[in-house]
Amino acid sequence: MIIILKPDTDPSGPEMTNLLDYLSQFPDIKTRTSGVRGTSRVVTELYLIGPTHHIPTETIARMPGVEKVVRVSSKYRQIGRHGGQLDQIGFTYNGVDFSQDTFHVFMGPCAVDTPEHVEAMFRAMKTAGLTTARMGAYKPRTSPYDFQGHGKSCLPWVFELAGKYGIKVIAMEVLRAIHIEEIQQALEETGHPTGVMLQIGTRNAQNFELLKAAGSQQEFPVLYKRGMGLTLEESLNACEYIASEGNRNIVFCLRGVKTRLGDPHRNLVDFAHVPVIKRLTRLPVCVDPTHSVGGKDRAPDGLLDIFHASAQGIIAGANMILVEFHPRPELALCDGPQALTLQELDHFMADVELVRKTYIERKELAARALFKEWHPA
Ligand code: PEP
Ligand code: MN
Repeated sequence: MIIILKPDTDPSGPEMTNLLDYLSQFPDIKTRTSGVRGTSRVVTELYLIGPTHHIPTETIARMPGVEKVVRVSSKYRQIGRHGGQLDQIGFTYNGVDFSQDTFHVFMGPCAVDTPEHVEAMFRAMKTAGLTTARMGAYKPRTSPYDFQGHGKSCLPWVFELAGKYGIKVIAMEVLRAIHIEEIQQALEETGHPTGVMLQIGTRNAQNFELLKAAGSQQEFPVLYKRGMGLTLEESLNACEYIASEGNRNIVFCLRGVKTRLGDPHRNLVDFAHVPVIKRLTRLPVCVDPTHSVGGKDRAPDGLLDIFHASAQGIIAGANMILVEFHPRPELALCDGPQALTLQELDHFMADVELVRKTYIERKELAARALFKEWHPA
């Protein structure tokens, strides 16, 4: 059961004390409070864990400070919308807003390689007015003989360069709990010139200990990537691990699923699931066209398949795009053949903005059509 307090109710004020006093008569119930910064207001939610079936919802709903009481199903307790009873949850990190209404492009190399390449990337992004990047210091590779990333040694100079070019958030994959601490420490030592969104990669989509580690810290938001061989339900359940540990600043990312039915693409593009995730959960949704398509083939219409896949995600309402770029793809130590180049950046952004604008118009069109349906002349 979730008790949602009226906006801006003080979580340590008299209404909450009164509520907790009332609930203390049910000794098997544990409570947990969480503050949710919605798109326009701050709300406090009180989670009741235990046998809640005998707690009278109507009595609680009438208590001072209570906005509503929601009985939750066992599925996706914290990230779920519970049949539309709960609104989305947005969050702000390092000055950047994330919600089911916002839109950001996170671009950059698959892996950090040289300071020159990283600086060229950030410089091009600054020129384009972009403040959200991607790049990995820790890389899980299919072959043990491939480059596994520079690890913590590159973090200080990557963060300093990011600060120099006004990059606010870098999506960075972590493979073990210790990597979170290393990122924390490097940010501390460099004076927090930028921020990090911890990325849980598809290969760790069911690494429950890592999910718990990302969930039990509150400093960094988490980009959870769908498991390449998991059903959507299995991935959403895994994602719930992060929230259940206390961190609900999560973005859910689609990146294609593994099946030979997607050939010649690297994975089968699953971006038709964008609206499904928005309906089932309260989380913003990201799409990764690069790892879905996995190559730079161009269609006869002049557009790269990566552009087409990006457009499919955006037109369906994606809130974030994770896309690989490299200033010299031929020198990249990981995933060079699928990286877009800096020469392609302006074209990519113009195409993305065109599609996003069309999505906003589609949403307005739908609102007008629904209004007419509900208010027939
Ligand atoms: C990545 O984004 O760098 C990556 C490795 O993606 P995925 O985990 O989706 O394969
Ligand atoms: Mn990659």
